[in-house]
Amino acid sequence: MNKSKLEYIWLDGYKPTQSLRSKTLVKSNFSGKLDDCPMWAFDGSSTQQAEGNDSDCLLKPVAIYPDPDRSNGYLVMNEVLNADTTPHESNGRATINDDDDDFWFGFEQEYFLWNPDTNLPLGFPTNGYPSPQGQYYCSVGSENTFGRDCVEEHLDQCLEAGINVEGINAEVATGQWEYQIFAKGAKDAGDQVWVARYLAERNAEKYGIAIEWHPKPLGATDWNGSGMHANFSDGTLRKCGDEKVFNKVCEAFGKNIKKHMDVYGAHNEQRLTGLHETCSIADFRYGVSDRGASIRIPMETANDGFGYLEDRRPSANMDPYSVCTALMETICSKVPAEV
Ligand code: ADP
Ligand code: MN
Ligand code: MN
Ligand code: MN
Repeated sequence: MNKSKLEYIWLDGYKPTQSLRSKTLVKSNFSGKLDDCPMWAFDGSSTQQAEGNDSDCLLKPVAIYPDPDRSNGYLVMNEVLNADTTPHESNGRATINDDDDDFWFGFEQEYFLWNPDTNLPLGFPTNGYPSPQGQYYCSVGSENTFGRDCVEEHLDQCLEAGINVEGINAEVATGQWEYQIFAKGAKDAGDQVWVARYLAERNAEKYGIAIEWHPKPLGATDWNGSGMHANFSDGTLRKCGDEKVFNKVCEAFGKNIKKHMDVYGAHNEQRLTGLHETCSIADFRYGVSDRGASIRIPMETANDGFGYLEDRRPSANMDPYSVCTALMETICSKVPAEV
């Protein structure tokens, strides 16, 4: 008897921020291939995706990864469909119509390791505050770094699952961390980001730790918030050798501020204050090597005239499918470069 455990993962219908949901399907003699993952269903009335009297929603498998923490296990990412197989309104992935591998994305996922009992970040005493920011970023040592075991295990799990994590680092606030994911094509990028979040949450359960994706979980204090810088390029940006092309793309972003902010994550206005390496939500600026800008042109890109751009505005809780769609549409809307 050969039984596999397929963990079907999807996004619920909660607003303004969707959460991950999952349940297990046990399958005999499973090939390990996406094509052999059946459609499945769930009760949409429990996830704000349907009314109780007509509650079935469908799960359409779209990506599969080996499950690094379960014997004979697989992680299966799904799109949510209505009973008539049209995409559910909560299904941001289905709105990606230009899934071209020419678009490359590098997301810097920041987050807090959070103590659910004290409702504070790891490393915070129950009364008062730890030492102010400064000593925690890229730190080592028990007085500086909190939750490394949990973070290391998450990294290993991502790599075993085939998620293209490019690095991790301890971040500026106490108990705050980052990992970077790079992928070609919007759907693959979005799938990897969501499955890495799933692994982060599930792995942290073992440590009694929660993952906090809120952009400013410590409110209007002098503690950093959590962003999700979106680094992106297309073939033109990687090859052009002309800084005018980069300025045109940035200017196209300046004409679409609301469209981008609408998908850059809820409560992001609490984070984009102009302090803590952010540009105020009221401003839009781009600049070479400027970590106080909305969009940073990396130094190497500016020197070479080709490379990529970094939009620093997206927050840690954003939906990568919607963000990739907005990025691609705006890049494509740029005025063609003069020849
Ligand atoms: P930072 O200095 O902003 O902290 P990181 O090293 O954390 O930078 O992240 C940089 C990200 O940029 C990585 O995820 C990397 O994959 C991504 N990146 C590098 N080159 C490109 C490119 N040409 N297109 C898209 N993303 C890129
Ligand atoms: Mn980074
Ligand atoms: Mn960072
Ligand atoms: Mn960055």
